[in-house]
Amino acid sequence: MSHIAFIGLGRMGGLMAANLIKAGRDLRGFDLDPRLCAEAEAQGVRATSSAQAAAQGAAAIITMLPAGGAVLAVWKELLRCVEQDALFMDCSTIDIASAREAHRLAAEAGRASIDAPVSGGVAGAKAGTLTFMCGGSTAAFQTARPLLAQMGEKIIHCGEGGLGQAAKICNNMMLGATMIATCEAFALAERLGLSDKTLFDVASVSSGQSWSLTHYCPAPGVLPTAPASRDYQPGFMTALMLKDMRLAEAAAAQVGLPTPLAALAAEIYAHYADQGEAERDFSGVMRMIRDGRRSAEPPRPPPQTRRSR
Ligand code: NAD
Repeated sequence: MSHIAFIGLGRMGGLMAANLIKAGRDLRGFDLDPRLCAEAEAQGVRATSSAQAAAQGAAAIITMLPAGGAVLAVWKELLRCVEQDALFMDCSTIDIASAREAHRLAAEAGRASIDAPVSGGVAGAKAGTLTFMCGGSTAAFQTARPLLAQMGEKIIHCGEGGLGQAAKICNNMMLGATMIATCEAFALAERLGLSDKTLFDVASVSSGQSWSLTHYCPAPGVLPTAPASRDYQPGFMTALMLKDMRLAEAAAAQVGLPTPLAALAAEIYAHYADQGEAERDFSGVMRMIRDGRRSAEPPRPPPQTRRSR
């Protein structure tokens, strides 16, 4: 059986690669950071000195990288040097335009490709319970599925190339906005004399219910498992939430859709990150809102939402 190549062995990639090893896969891996290559080797990955060395002869190439530019650079390099039937699979969260360009390059080189960004974070990557949102042909999805099932639990085909990223970005856009709305409600409740626990008990069985509330309540001490109950240690870092909100803004701008709520949410996360909190969990924005540390002035609306005179 041919091996799998895994490029990008960071916080997520290292754990996902470890799960493939546990499932009995033969893995070759590469990361620009040699320390991460050494850590992966300790998990059973055969670390290589370049992405090309990992990819040669591979049945599938998985990328788990920080942004679209890195994914395109690696795919361009590898598309020329892999087997004809190798499947290209990008699990990073990247902008829609880069995802579509990656699929276009793969098609041009006659290679199958899939975008398969994940939800579930580091905890889900470690437990092998990630959700994969996939874009690409049905044939590519069927080829990818058994591999993805060894790293995650829910694997959803969202449509053609790029629509996995669209699902990921739209999901996180909702999450980013509902988290801030939840924080504001808890901050207001406190000022009105209503306890966090009582608001939780009411809203979690009422129409204010959301994942941000019931799985990730931003008020400390309400849910013992939530980052709020451990000084907002991530979890999901504010920097990553901000990245995803910016990707949503870029996607909306690309199709000319005004999304003022997402724009405001992005500014609030940017403001929180600027206070030295970029690596704290995104639900930590609760503290900034509770303390009234954010200026009340909303950002200017995007140009397309302004009324013409
Ligand atoms: P990370 O920064 O820990 O890992 C990315 C790795 O890619 C780094 O180790 C870096 O050295 C490596 N890299 C960059 N360019 C490379 C190249 N050209 N060749 C080889 N290696 C290269 O990031 P992460 O937290 O593992 O996230 C990876 C992706 O998953 C991102 O797109 C992120 O948005 C997404 N994501 C992260 C989380 C999370 O909770 N961390 C959750 C969901 C999605």
